[in-house]
Amino acid sequence: MCRNYLFSFNKMQYFTQKESITGCILCHISKHDHKCEELVLWENEYFIISLNLYPYNPGHLIIFPKRHIEDFRKFSETEIMQINRITKACLNLLDETYHPAGYNIGYNMGLCAGASIEHIHQHIVPRYKNEIGIEEIIGGSRILVESPRESHKRLLDTISEKHIFT
Ligand SMILES: [Zn+2]
Repeated sequence: MCRNYLFSFNKMQYFTQKESITGCILCHISKHDHKCEELVLWENEYFIISLNLYPYNPGHLIIFPKRHIEDFRKFSETEIMQINRITKACLNLLDETYHPAGYNIGYNMGLCAGASIEHIHQHIVPRYKNEIGIEEIIGGSRILVESPRESHKRLLDTISEKHIFT
């Protein structure tokens, strides 16, 4: 039922900083800075998969390079190949865990394009058949059913070697 997929706009602070930090949060996460809450699912030499800071839906992932780049064109050929393979792996993992009806996959590049963080990151947003309309969220008193912390645990329970190809 749609009840499983609700979120609330006032629940946007899960990926919180335990202490105030300066600079790029994704760079801090790459370095496993203890000041950032750990929602990382997987990493290799080049990339990190994490639950999104501000989930649109349960299972909303971001994939980002460990090095700080702000433009898709700065990806090396190796990184392009890797992120495509990691994206496929994430879709398999999400299919198995959440069985969504579809996905939005993409980048917001540049602040005016909606990127809240300049360090490039690819979103994978699972979409569900029974997502509730925005007016019902605003008008109602329903709340998030699954926090990113819960999603993190669920996905960690499901993830295995077969999901990630590097
Ligand atoms: Zn960065």
